[in-house]
Amino acid sequence: MTTHLSPGLLARYADRAAVLDEVTMWSVESHLEECAGCRALLADCMAGDALIARVAAGVDLGIAAGPAPAPRRRSLTVRNRWFVWHLAPWLTMTVAILGGAVLLQALEPRVPLVLLLAPVAPLPGVAVAWSRRHDPAWELIAGTPAAGLLMLLRRTAAVLAVIIPALALASNRTGVSLALALLPCLAFSAATIVLGGFIGVRRAAVWLGSLWTLAVVVPTIATVHPPALLQSGTSGFWALLTLILAGLAAMKSASFRRLSSHN
Ligand SMILES: [Zn+2]
Repeated sequence: MTTHLSPGLLARYADRAAVLDEVTMWSVESHLEECAGCRALLADCMAGDALIARVAAGVDLGIAAGPAPAPRRRSLTVRNRWFVWHLAPWLTMTVAILGGAVLLQALEPRVPLVLLLAPVAPLPGVAVAWSRRHDPAWELIAGTPAAGLLMLLRRTAAVLAVIIPALALASNRTGVSLALALLPCLAFSAATIVLGGFIGVRRAAVWLGSLWTLAVVVPTIATVHPPALLQSGTSGFWALLTLILAGLAAMKSASFRRLSSHN
């Protein structure tokens, strides 16, 4: 249907004094929504409208009389970064726990605490980075084309940028295998993203963290026997698992169009 609105009808629609019946009003408005040409004609009809001119002049005057916009201070840029400040406590806590694990492992070398904590170390940061509840800008992000898996990966990378050096340092201090500290950490980060596509990233982090704690950490501490999953020689398995999970995460990218609502 390409019948355009007649100039007479548009003039009546623009005239606040004219009375249009509901059906005509509805058909005019639904046509205007679709037709840029008629919207331009309507704008021409409204050009002489004294009210619009008065409002425009008032706004101009208000802008001219108001204070000049404050120049953006460079020092505020970092302070305004939600990501930096919101994640800082979580990352500090994780690094502090890893530090504690290094000390405890020095006291009891039979329990590889650093290796036990490595897989779950990035989970709190990843969960917070992708939670609607924790992000004041989530509404903006939801409407941004760049939001989605790419943003989740970027935020996860920012978390890992802190966790990986901390793990490397911890493995260096305790003499445990660097590959066995880092690969499970990456595998669990990828697993959180994959599972997060189904149940929400935060819930996935809680589930995976609990599962690892109950199935591996608690039995290892109770029996003082290193778990089979973290023996030297399992790094190939962890590398393969990380690759598979990363592939699955890429396939699940459609699930990350917006911040998790499963918060
Ligand atoms: Zn039209």
